[in-house]
Amino acid sequence: MAEAARQRTEVLVVGSGAGGAVTALELAAAGRDVAVLEEGGEHSTDDYGKSSPDAMRLLYRRRGMTPILGQVPLGYVEGACVGGSTEINSGFWHRTPREVLLRWHAQFGLAHAGVDEMAPHFDWAEARLGISKYDGEWPKSTRMFARGIEAMGWAYQEVPRAAPGCRSTNACASGCPIGKKRGMSHALWPTAREKGARLVPHCRVHQLLFERHRCIGVLAEVEVEPGRRVLARIDADHVFVCAGPTETPALLRRSGVKFHVGETLRVHPMLKVAARFPEIVDAHQSVLPLLQVKEFWPDVSLGGAFFTPGHLALGLSDNWPETADRMPRFRNMASYYVAVRGEGRGWVRPSKLGDGATLIHYDVGPGDLKNLSQGLARLCTLLLAAGAEEVLPAVRGMPSITSEDEAIRWLDEPLPKANLSLTTVHAFSSCPIGERSEKCAADSFGKLRRYENLYVNDASVLPDSPGVNPQGSVMAFARRNALHFIDRLS
Ligand SMILES: Cc1cc2nc3c(=O)[nH]c(=O)nc-3n(C[C@H](O)[C@H](O)[C@H](O)COP(=O)(O)OP(=O)(O)OC[C@H]3O[C@@H](n4cnc5c(N)ncnc54)[C@H](O)[C@@H]3O)c2cc1C
Repeated sequence: MAEAARQRTEVLVVGSGAGGAVTALELAAAGRDVAVLEEGGEHSTDDYGKSSPDAMRLLYRRRGMTPILGQVPLGYVEGACVGGSTEINSGFWHRTPREVLLRWHAQFGLAHAGVDEMAPHFDWAEARLGISKYDGEWPKSTRMFARGIEAMGWAYQEVPRAAPGCRSTNACASGCPIGKKRGMSHALWPTAREKGARLVPHCRVHQLLFERHRCIGVLAEVEVEPGRRVLARIDADHVFVCAGPTETPALLRRSGVKFHVGETLRVHPMLKVAARFPEIVDAHQSVLPLLQVKEFWPDVSLGGAFFTPGHLALGLSDNWPETADRMPRFRNMASYYVAVRGEGRGWVRPSKLGDGATLIHYDVGPGDLKNLSQGLARLCTLLLAAGAEEVLPAVRGMPSITSEDEAIRWLDEPLPKANLSLTTVHAFSSCPIGERSEKCAADSFGKLRRYENLYVNDASVLPDSPGVNPQGSVMAFARRNALHFIDRLS
């Protein structure tokens, strides 16, 4: 690999997703000289909406195969492209709930992050992303869910999304091909560039470089033309690491920054089910179900999952001999989930083999198992009340639930832990912020302890599980922290 010329910038940002895009935009708008290094490629809407294997190759880390290991492994995916995971997410939007902010203050000493202090940052992000409710008639898979919720009499919410004018193409997970889902590549990057931020795709940062307690730059590998990579050294006065909840702690630890880094990964473990209805639902042709049951929040949320025949096959694969014959009836089916707040704890480490890989571990705790079991009982009763003929959970040895009695049993009994096929797309808290130095990697605004000019500003910083879809929290905290940094510089 040839050595490239040494370059310099005032502020260097690693990663262009929810945290990195907000950071770069605000710093550039304040007149700072900003360069952003992004491992993944930059793609236009022409590249979006492809089949799952193509989309995973283009937009996902490790082509969509990033396991979280532990007693119960979790299937995990994240984005690796300009815009990061916001390009492939569903755009569901929540503000950080008041109760969660209060807990973060009480438990982590998180300062200046009350509801009123966070509100302007949410207002800002919501305006840029056009956060709004779906403007068409609810698709059938949403209406079936609503019917079940109402039969149970539970509190629920139609969740607003970062997808104004969504036309129900059901392509969120492979990038919206009609540009309606407002990932960072559409929503923030054009403005950030206008303001002067320089974005370098296909550039993976391997190592942060230090002189005592100052980060003086990074060593990165850049693809200068297809198939030709060079090593580059980029010097900087200030460095923001926004590489996401798993790669931020991995990069920091690879570079020797370890104080409370990568020790406290939290996730929202998720258990999916497929429901088969007597009528045609055509969930594969519509936006995923738009409602979330809030009755059991913060411990348990019930909602709708992305659905294609391929995803259905994956969900049924635990009990394939008994369930494969449902595949021809996929038009009558839709997917839903139980998501729990995540009381277990995990860690992130760079692989010792020097291959740049990242090891991710999470232990599903007893509280998680109880919440998943009770959540499954409730989700199944809801779907049966909605008229489903059967519910097929991603639990080995439990091919199908057809009666309320079978379903309600899991309110009082734990599911067989080893048989669960869990997934998650919500990870955070691997570099928690707050004033409690005995447990926080960084201060309340993301400056890493023991370093003069090194910051984290992405999902890693959320002190603990937010209990709601995290992108809103990530963006609002990223903006708050970036503005605080600008104030202190001037
Ligand atoms: C399939 C899916 C569905 C989701 N649905 C929702 C939803 O509906 N609502 C919601 O609120 N949240 C959702 N999320 C979660 C949400 O997208 C994330 O919480 C959020 O994007 C995290 O922001 P981030 O900046 O921490 O990381 P990301 O947005 O993932 O950005 C990190 C970026 O850093 C880059 N990077 C990593 N390492 C390096 C390196 N060494 N050098 C250079 N670049 C690097 C990555 O390639 C990536 O582009 C979903 C996530 C996924 C994957």
